[in-house]
Amino acid sequence: MIYLNGEFMPIEQARIPVLDRGFIFGDGVYEVIPVYSRHPFRLAEHLRRLQQSLNGIKLVNPHDDPTWTRLIRRLVELNEPDDQSLYMHITRGPAKRDHAFPALVTPTVFLMSNPLTTPPQQQVNDGVRAITAVDNRWLRCDIKAIALLPNVLLRQEAVEAGCVETVLLRDGFMTEGAASNIFVVRDGVLLAPPKNHLMLPGITYDVVLELAQASGIRHEIREIPEDELRSAQEVWLTSSTKEVLAISRLDGAPVGTGKPGPVFARMYALYQDYKNQVMRSG
Ligand code: PMP
Repeated sequence: MIYLNGEFMPIEQARIPVLDRGFIFGDGVYEVIPVYSRHPFRLAEHLRRLQQSLNGIKLVNPHDDPTWTRLIRRLVELNEPDDQSLYMHITRGPAKRDHAFPALVTPTVFLMSNPLTTPPQQQVNDGVRAITAVDNRWLRCDIKAIALLPNVLLRQEAVEAGCVETVLLRDGFMTEGAASNIFVVRDGVLLAPPKNHLMLPGITYDVVLELAQASGIRHEIREIPEDELRSAQEVWLTSSTKEVLAISRLDGAPVGTGKPGPVFARMYALYQDYKNQVMRSG
């Protein structure tokens, strides 16, 4: 079951006009919220980032947070698995094709749920392979825009190289992954690039830094030059659906020992504990 513009229906029945600006221009924004045991994880934070994305593209939020919450909870109820990946998608709606905004905007609101698939235990234990590439995206990567062609092409490069992710470098500094944020561990210190227009402010990124803060893991938020990425003892990727995963090989070279490191093991356990704790408390 999905939600489209005021109605819940089976996905096969969902239709949008071909002139929708999401289809024509990629003019819209989205969110992905993990749902564990039917509880949307960090819902308030996802709704806050959605608002920031909408502000970024000058589209009025079609719903207030209580309405979004109601719609999301209903959609979760209507779908089968306890763990779901909730996708929210808002476009500037259908209009005669013209780059400029239409005078009257009727946004398209689409929500769908898929079963949540978190990484298999083998990937958690062994880490995953990644490649690097030049970050050739626009300069508003802080907006979670549905126009994802550069990210699509960059991640496809990883898949064709038998890898899970592409780590992006812009002007000699690491920004993020094609579909994740990236952390580095050097000399026992967890390093994260600062949130700015060059990366998506990840919800999982925030959770990881909060957990590091709360459990005394030394951490620093600062720019990460390419050589510090390549000589790091640990490199991790984070996202709502991949949670925290170690990158064990980068461009074919082992990261550290070539196995997930001790700081990763600690953070992975903290993340799972935190998740379970949040779920128990509803
Ligand atoms: N950066 C990019 C480009 C992403 O697409 C994503 C999520 N898919 C992330 C970072 C991670 O964000 P979050 O932790 O909120 O899923």
